[in-house]
Amino acid sequence: MDGERERKITVTAIERFSAKDGPGIRTVIFFKGCPLRCAWCHNPETQAAEPELLFDAAACIGCGACVSVCPVGARTEKFPFPDRGKCTGCGRCTEVCPSGASALSGRPMTAEEIVEEACRDEIFYAGGGGLTLSGGEPFFWEATEEVLAKAASKGLSVVAETSGYAPSARLERAAAYVGLFLWDIKDTDGARHWLYTGGELGIVLENLRRVDARGGATLIRCPMAEGINADEKNLCGLAELSLSLKHCFGVQLLACHDGGRTKNRLLGRTDGARREWTPSAQNFESYGRILRGFGARVWEEGSFPPALPAERR
Ligand code: SF4
Ligand code: SF4
Repeated sequence: MDGERERKITVTAIERFSAKDGPGIRTVIFFKGCPLRCAWCHNPETQAAEPELLFDAAACIGCGACVSVCPVGARTEKFPFPDRGKCTGCGRCTEVCPSGASALSGRPMTAEEIVEEACRDEIFYAGGGGLTLSGGEPFFWEATEEVLAKAASKGLSVVAETSGYAPSARLERAAAYVGLFLWDIKDTDGARHWLYTGGELGIVLENLRRVDARGGATLIRCPMAEGINADEKNLCGLAELSLSLKHCFGVQLLACHDGGRTKNRLLGRTDGARREWTPSAQNFESYGRILRGFGARVWEEGSFPPALPAERR
């Protein structure tokens, strides 16, 4: 990466007034770039760090405007479908597409621009809200540290949704600024973790313990996927892990869903979460009960512990 790109972060979406990404009302910045490849990923457009073309064949009117502007001939051979092998994600076709069939996911933003976006909604943060960094993996980017420092200078409360699969030193330094880490533990079984995410559980756990040692407040989150990690072994592991940490508020279970399928289609992929992985309401409720039975403090979806404002840390 050149110097310019190192200072910028590729952002794929900004969601305002969210009540499900940390305490209070929050502005959520979705970063692109993630080292994991979770089989059930809900936001597959955030995996690659670079901007990517989304193509919706159902919306295409076949006008051919994209063909004439594409600098690398990626819209010619498979028209109207883009040739993903050639496409560089330059976005020129999205500027001329009259139907919205071609759209770009991701634009580079500086730390200053990201914090400015969050500050626009400051009036709504009075009840404990603020800025949430999500993704993708927010700590994939070196410039995330600059976001945290600037957010602190504005007194913003920052929540970070992380897989914990990022450079240890970066996460440790972030502990001084992040009011609450929503820390994903995809599975407490190392073999399954590797199989379904492509990442080593040991790295995630080591980073979690390091951040805990630095006083970083965490809420462990786990997506329950039927037939994969939704079993007593994993729930027991989650409970034990949460109880072993000094600054962990407890565990929040999330129901795995296949919401990423549409985005995968727009990215020209066929993979994604399977419907049978989504737990029934009855099963999902029972997982919470089992987790409580193992002694964990359980947080329902949408309920959160407080996040300290950065200025107080
Ligand atoms: S994003 Fe750029 S390279 Fe890709 S198809 Fe469109 S114009 Fe061609
Ligand atoms: S410019 Fe848009 S609508 Fe026209 S052919 Fe290309 S993708 Fe389809």
